[in-house]
Amino acid sequence: MRDPTSFLRNEYGDLVAAELDWKLRVLGGPSSPWSMIDGKKTLMFCSNNYLGLSNHPALKEAALEAIRTHGAGSGSVRPIAGNMDVHMELERRLAQFKKAEASLVYQSGFATNSGLIPQLVGEGDLVVSDELNHGSIIDGVRLSRAERAVYKHADAADLERVLEEAEHHSPAYRRILIITDGVFSMDGDIAPLDKIAALGTRHGAMVYVDDAHGEGVLGEGGRGIVSHFHLSRDEVQVEMGTFSKAFGVVGGHISGSRDLVNFAYNKSRTWLLSGSHPPAVAAACLAAVEVLEREPEHVRRLWEHTRRFKKAMSDLGFDIGRSETPITPVIVGESPLARRLSQRLFELGVFALPIVFPMVAKDRARIRTIMNAALTEDDVSFAISAFEKAGKELRIL
Ligand SMILES: *Cc1c(COP(=O)(O)O)cnc(C)c1O
Repeated sequence: MRDPTSFLRNEYGDLVAAELDWKLRVLGGPSSPWSMIDGKKTLMFCSNNYLGLSNHPALKEAALEAIRTHGAGSGSVRPIAGNMDVHMELERRLAQFKKAEASLVYQSGFATNSGLIPQLVGEGDLVVSDELNHGSIIDGVRLSRAERAVYKHADAADLERVLEEAEHHSPAYRRILIITDGVFSMDGDIAPLDKIAALGTRHGAMVYVDDAHGEGVLGEGGRGIVSHFHLSRDEVQVEMGTFSKAFGVVGGHISGSRDLVNFAYNKSRTWLLSGSHPPAVAAACLAAVEVLEREPEHVRRLWEHTRRFKKAMSDLGFDIGRSETPITPVIVGESPLARRLSQRLFELGVFALPIVFPMVAKDRARIRTIMNAALTEDDVSFAISAFEKAGKELRIL
């Protein structure tokens, strides 16, 4: 008899043979500046926990208190019996923080993009997408019945070309949605959202920005990319983000008009059909928003460390690409070299993973570092020394 599951072992075997399988590291404790990784105390240098909030006492206390007062789970999806006061309070405070009319929280950023995008556009519509957008956007677009067009990465002139072509489309598109990451996570560059917003306005298109890596990082007090470019909600109608990165917890969200939020929660299948956050999650997210408002030093320190690290690394002679954010790629060339550098850094006490083909071009393999505000100056110096030592040993420098 033929085994109907043989493909499982075969395809996994192919990944292992090509060294494209994920070898999972295990954290034996919190994600903190010095984390226990596979039993070894190591400097965390690649988490998305930019501000160190995942282990902040205010977030932990808020989560514990919510468990005491509201229990471990929410009991349902939000539209039926799982909408707690803590969910509503989180959205009210997030909207205030974002200076938007309203906000809506989803279970994750992935659930936001895959649930909302296919409701915003459908048959007879066009989605115009940056070629390097995140996979959750790509899946959201795939779930819609809209036509798709891709513009060159962060290239407003190419976007303009696509929009002009779209104007001559017959029959005319019902709606056009421009969608882009705010900060691109592989290179750390920022989308030209000011130009994109102006083009959206000129062509009557909606603009949707996924600011997963910009929140807690860019803009006034870490308010994100819309604040960074001083744009209005009439120009960028959907500001999407996540609580899983700088906010240190988990959950997706959108901010914009009350009309957007009313539409989104009544239509998004991921929101309607999937259980709501446990109260501890909502309470910890709320505490994260409050910490950002109350303790501006985290964002400030993140940028101080970032500037110092980038300068030291480029002075040493590393190729650190075109990043404008606390994501600093250290580009070394071929994949095996990036893997060896990561391995050597780990031995020296620094945890930073390689990003290799097919995530980036074959000759642009890199270590992707992400700065963390919770590090001390000595920690940053430690990382720089480890990169220098490993870089010299492997003849990258
Ligand atoms: C991480 C990320 C997401 C997914 O967010 P989660 O809340 O972790 O599901 C979506 N978009 C971008 C650009 C991201 O970097």
